[in-house]
Amino acid sequence: MKIAIYPGSFDPITLGHLDIIHRAARISDKLIIAVLINSDKKPMFSLEERIELIKKATKGIENIEIETYGGLLADYAREKKATFIIRGLRAVTDFEFELQLAQTNKKLNPEAETVFLTTSVEYSYVCSKYVRDIARFGGDISAFVPGEIVDDIKRKCIEERNNQ
Ligand code: ADP
Repeated sequence: MKIAIYPGSFDPITLGHLDIIHRAARISDKLIIAVLINSDKKPMFSLEERIELIKKATKGIENIEIETYGGLLADYAREKKATFIIRGLRAVTDFEFELQLAQTNKKLNPEAETVFLTTSVEYSYVCSKYVRDIARFGGDISAFVPGEIVDDIKRKCIEERNNQ
C-alpha cells in the first residue's frame, strides 16, 4: 500500500493545493493531508477551521485522510508508514527551500521519498498569503480558492474586522 503525506499550512487551502491533492491521490493508495500545527507563525485560520475548509474542498475524493502534525515531518512519516512526501513546486523560487527540506527529510527518514508535483500553469501564482491579503481587503478570491469555501473565508474576514 502506497501511503503518501502532503504536508502544509493550508491557511487556507487554495485551488493550487487542491490540484496537487487530486493528482497525488491518483498516484497513491492513501493520501494523508497533514495540516501543520504552526508554532512560530500565527495563522489566519485555526487548525480546526483549516481542517473544516479542506474537508469541504475535498469532498468526493475517496482515498484521503486529513490529519494534523506538529513535530518533525520525517518522524510523522515513519509513524504513518508513509513512503512518499508530496510537495508542490510553483516557481524556481520554491526550489532551493524544497530541495534543502527534501534532503534533510531524507537524512532523517531514508524510507520516505519526497515527490515533487509541478504546479499546473493556471495555478502557478496562487498562494495562501495572497488569498488572505485579497480577502482581508474585500477583493474577489473566487479565482483562487474552491467555490465551496469562498463564503467561509469572507465570513472569517468580517469576524476579524468586528474583533479589531
Ligand atoms: P503556501 O505556500 O501557499 O502558504 P503551504 O505552505 O500550505 O502553502 O504549502 C504546502 C505545499 O503546497 C508546498 O509544497 C507548496 O509548494 C505547495 N503549493 C502551494 N501552492 C501551490 C500551487 N499553487 N501550486 C502547486 N503547489 C503549491
